[in-house]
Amino acid sequence: MKIQDIQAIQLLLSTTKKIAIIPHRGPDGDAMGSTLALYHFLLKNNHIPIVVSANEFPDFLSWMPGSETVKIFEKDKENCTKILQDAEVIFTLDFNALHRTGEMEHVLSQLKAPFVMIDHHQKPDDYAAVTYSDTSFGSTCEMIYNFINFLGKKDQIDKTIGTCIYTGILTDSGSFRFPKTTGNTHRIVAELIDLGVENTEIPSLLFDNSGYDRLQLLGRALQNMKVIEERKTSYTTLTQEELNTFHYVKGDTEGVVNYGLSIKGIHFAAIFIENKEENIIKISFRSQGDFDVNQFARDHFHGGGHKNAAGGKSELTMEKTIEKFEDLVMKISI
Ligand code: 5GP
Ligand code: MN
Repeated sequence: MKIQDIQAIQLLLSTTKKIAIIPHRGPDGDAMGSTLALYHFLLKNNHIPIVVSANEFPDFLSWMPGSETVKIFEKDKENCTKILQDAEVIFTLDFNALHRTGEMEHVLSQLKAPFVMIDHHQKPDDYAAVTYSDTSFGSTCEMIYNFINFLGKKDQIDKTIGTCIYTGILTDSGSFRFPKTTGNTHRIVAELIDLGVENTEIPSLLFDNSGYDRLQLLGRALQNMKVIEERKTSYTTLTQEELNTFHYVKGDTEGVVNYGLSIKGIHFAAIFIENKEENIIKISFRSQGDFDVNQFARDHFHGGGHKNAAGGKSELTMEKTIEKFEDLVMKISI
């Protein structure tokens, strides 16, 4: 962070403030981890913070400290709009453009209070008074640790804040496997463990919580998987009907896309998930190595993300979407 930005934040936070903290729509471990870590940090510093999420967070994150205080815009638009309008500072975490908050964008874009963006996605929009954006980080949570450190308050990081930070680092790094995992990442995690963060319990809370239906749905996704060997690509699909059969709930398809990459020689994987309610096909892309799925998602599927993990959507039918994808894959070199 630039020294003048740190000073601007220090000034902004020098008196008690009402502060809204916003994750991206469909919050994941990093979005929830970073917003809740900041929430606990701001509470400790006599502010009045509140996390407002565009929609519900997945069940497997409901154990996170402070998650019970999170307001859901979709469920209570009137009250959430008021909270946002009353806020004196707005932190937007783990996303780079206001449209990533869905409908809430219309409220956010009208606010006069200063915004602070902390994020690790490419091409940040220019809406914040202070933008701490750096794509070299594997998670926003790692940036939150730095942010608190930059403010000279590292000694305030306790087990609660550490638990939130650890969760985002763990989930966004694919359990410390993705390329942006550095020595520093591990040094931070080591410090968090020394603070008492439960580094064996948290992965279990996050990853060992499937119901039988979820595993059956995974089984279906694995059965549906296609491999295009000459393009080192695999993809799979889940229709709305299949989701219904296995009583899909939010979060059930989290991580399924990664199985494609676990096939030997596959460097590009995708999953297409039908959403009849929104009338779209939601897509996740993953790659290993040089193929830039962020660019691919931006160019062809109204999406974005990171070089090796991105998402997007299609308004075509599942069939037409797959046709388009297969055509595109035949034209790229992986
Ligand atoms: P996931 O596939 O796990 O939903 O998302 C992978 C990454 O891509 C995350 O960083 C996520 O924020 C980003 N991403 C997912 N969907 C979209 C989208 O529709 N638009 C943009 N810009 N980014 C997305
Ligand atoms: Mn993230």
